[in-house]
Amino acid sequence: ERDAALRAVDEPATTVDGRTIPVMVNVGSVQDARDARGADGSGLVRTEVLFGDRRTAPTAAEQVAAYREIAAALNGKSITIRTWDVGGDKPLRFLPQAAEANPFLGERGIRTFRHATPEQPTAASAQPGRHELLKIQLDAIREVAAATPVQVMFPMVTMAEEVAWALRQLGPRPDGLKVGIMVEVPAAALRIETLAVGLDFVSIGTNDLTQYTTAADRTNTAVAPLADGLDPAVLRLIDRVVRQVPLGVHVAVCGDLASDPLAAPLLVGLGVQELSAVGPQVALVKAKLRQISAVDAAMAAATALTLDSAAAVRQRLK
Ligand code: PEP
Ligand code: MG
Repeated sequence: ERDAALRAVDEPATTVDGRTIPVMVNVGSVQDARDARGADGSGLVRTEVLFGDRRTAPTAAEQVAAYREIAAALNGKSITIRTWDVGGDKPLRFLPQAAEANPFLGERGIRTFRHATPEQPTAASAQPGRHELLKIQLDAIREVAAATPVQVMFPMVTMAEEVAWALRQLGPRPDGLKVGIMVEVPAAALRIETLAVGLDFVSIGTNDLTQYTTAADRTNTAVAPLADGLDPAVLRLIDRVVRQVPLGVHVAVCGDLASDPLAAPLLVGLGVQELSAVGPQVALVKAKLRQISAVDAAMAAATALTLDSAAAVRQRLK
């Protein structure tokens, strides 16, 4: 079955009733992009992973080169570059953060940049400050977008003010650049109808959305059974996003739920328009979607929303 999936990997993922779902790949390195057979582009470039081993901040030119290499490895298909998602379990050596009692609830993603006061670079640390780091990254993204299809995505958004602030930092956008946010905080899902106004897309980060919905640390194995993306409480938030998002705003899922061939049809049934999976799962997710009908998936999804536990959902999907 795996061989058949791999042979067909370059074909689109079209359901038996004719719905085509782009299946993208999540990448944290240029190599990830080179290894991604059959992906319809990248739905998530984790830039804090891409440059995670750097002691000093990458320059705009270095970032442009890396983003271009990723786009080239994906044959010029669209790439979604996420701005620095530092904090929580993801430190960056070139962006030091103060110790926090609850890092997952603290300065993560866009929060890290918005609340920082503009720093004067000092002679002692020639490193750019936080504001400058985001500005350099957005400059690089705009430059890449002038030549290849690019989406820019802001992580850990909770409030509309953060979206407005992010759009101000981005400034004038070149034609090829689409703008979106991660939906990974329950509050964002619960007010998506106003939060996503003026955006091109939202991408649901089921890893963090699950962590924050179930109040179960995604890195703590002791509570791992609680942090299950198939929990109907999480599915109801996804359902809400799809139903309430402003007209014309595209809904993707880039969390790990999109990599699970069992869960992917459920996401399509909920109305998600695009998936982004880890490299080795792209072929399997595409193969699965070719076997299902979107109409049947919608009925299965409606049932899943009524169930009480992830275990019950998983049982039903099987
Ligand atoms: C997510 O939270 O689902 C996500 C895709 O982002 P990350 O795993 O990088 O936090
Ligand atoms: Mg996340």
